[in-house]
Amino acid sequence: RAKRQGRGRTRAFDTALSREVDRRLTLEADLRQAIERQELELAYQPLFDLSSDTLAGVEALIRWRHPSGTVRLPGSFLDVAEETGLIVPICEWVLATACTAARGWVPAAGPRFKLHLNHAACHLGDGQMTAHVQAALDSSGLDPGRVVVEVTESQVLTDFDEAHTALSALRALGVGVALDDFGTGYSSLTRLQRLPVDVVKLDGSFIEHLEHRDRDRDVVRSVIDLSHSLHAAVVGEGIETDDQQRVLRDLGCDLGQGFHLARPVGAAQVSAML
Ligand code: C2E
Ligand code: MG
Ligand code: MG
Ligand code: MG
Repeated sequence: RAKRQGRGRTRAFDTALSREVDRRLTLEADLRQAIERQELELAYQPLFDLSSDTLAGVEALIRWRHPSGTVRLPGSFLDVAEETGLIVPICEWVLATACTAARGWVPAAGPRFKLHLNHAACHLGDGQMTAHVQAALDSSGLDPGRVVVEVTESQVLTDFDEAHTALSALRALGVGVALDDFGTGYSSLTRLQRLPVDVVKLDGSFIEHLEHRDRDRDVVRSVIDLSHSLHAAVVGEGIETDDQQRVLRDLGCDLGQGFHLARPVGAAQVSAML
């Protein structure tokens, strides 16, 4: 009986596994066509200067308008894109599209308006991102000083030396570098000072309980103070309430982003905001 149960479990596991393999194969095939069929879109989430309440930039966030009619968020397909190498043409498309849009916004934007772009997790070490960014800047005519490339703290922790090289190469192009989702790997706080970083984006998980958790407030305060002593600006991510916005501003946080301030919007809405 035990043996039969064991076999049953194995069979259930095999079924789950083959279902997952199927899902990935279908997703890969669909994703391959998504670029040609122009199903990919960019949403732009505004960043605001917390002291003046003015628009300080936008972050490009990828969306996939699937033929089934649903809009897929990056968390549901970027992993497969990275495993299959499809992230490379997708990344090129994102950079070219966003830089061209931003070039159009520049005449109406203030001098401090920046375009934030997310660095894919997989190819931090191969230098491809630097080449892609350079190509997008060349083809769009966008000033490198208008661009900030975001790399997550966990990407940096995977291989610190590799990350250091990649961030330095990006900076040599004249673009800024941001540490995204900062605080999720708190141990690296002291390593921050060895990285060439212009902006630190405090992860939303620290902001969530900011109003009533003293410990979170202490952590946020120390990250803000350390960042400032390294001449990096700080962005609070995932601001969902007025109280969170106020506490961050009072702690000296420079910029804010979150549903309370603005949801991701289309390119035409960014033009309208400017
Ligand atoms: P991220 O760079 O940390 O982007 C912020 C994510 O938080 C976005 O989700 C955004 O919609 C969401 N968000 C913003 N404000 C709030 C808020 O107030 N509350 C909550 N709960 N969420 C908020 P999204 O668009 O699903 O993107 C998820 C992640 O996918 C991004 O995290 C980024 O790492 C990655 N990603 C997005 N676009 C691209 C891309 O073009 N290339 C690459 N390589 N990665 C991308
Ligand atoms: Mg980001
Ligand atoms: Mg983030
Ligand atoms: Mg985040």
